[in-house]
Amino acid sequence: MRLGVFGGTFDPLHTGHLILAEASREQLQLDRVLFIPAGDPWRKSDREITPASQRLDMVRLATADNPNFEVDDCEVAHEGPSYTVDTLRSLSQRLPEAELYLILGEDALADLPNWRDPAGIASQAMIAVVPRGGIGMPWLPFPASRLLRVEMPYIGISATELRRRSRRGLSLRYLVPAAVEAYIREQGLYRG
Ligand code: ATP
Repeated sequence: MRLGVFGGTFDPLHTGHLILAEASREQLQLDRVLFIPAGDPWRKSDREITPASQRLDMVRLATADNPNFEVDDCEVAHEGPSYTVDTLRSLSQRLPEAELYLILGEDALADLPNWRDPAGIASQAMIAVVPRGGIGMPWLPFPASRLLRVEMPYIGISATELRRRSRRGLSLRYLVPAAVEAYIREQGLYRG
């Protein structure tokens, strides 16, 4: 089984995430893409993060209609910071037959050298990189043969910009799935 592993803060999940996951599924011939919302995103501890349960709800709402997409709450359920290297290890233990593909945008790849044990990450999963505005290739402590490229049209959507738009009372329509837009409104997220 070929399994895509797609982690993120998803604060909120947006259309860029869905296009990325579908492009990866198709090009890498993945049987499933596992969305894994971060519980305590230690690389983003400089800003306030929406509670994990609400970010998880948004990911569930956004992926419910796609049988190839699944949501895994392992990092949300885990106390304290989660490290990708540990998440991959526990996935391999749970699903020993799975071939893992870690899906990252270019900005996340650029940050990868700062993550815990990047070589350990690349030894457990192929690293699939999606373009995100032409960020240069960082030096990586593992062979380039562990990297794969996924093509997709450049989608200039970021969760940061969406939070900003929402605070200014601007529309999120089509930038996030309709169910996520309704959830943000009902829960009063990203106001003021
Ligand atoms: P923020 O603006 O809050 O940092 P984000 O939009 O980058 O959030 P994350 O949840 O941090 O969203 O991203 C999860 C993963 O999805 C990362 O690997 C990121 O590179 C990738 N990603 C997010 N948005 C896009 C996009 N528009 N195009 C390509 N990759 C994306």
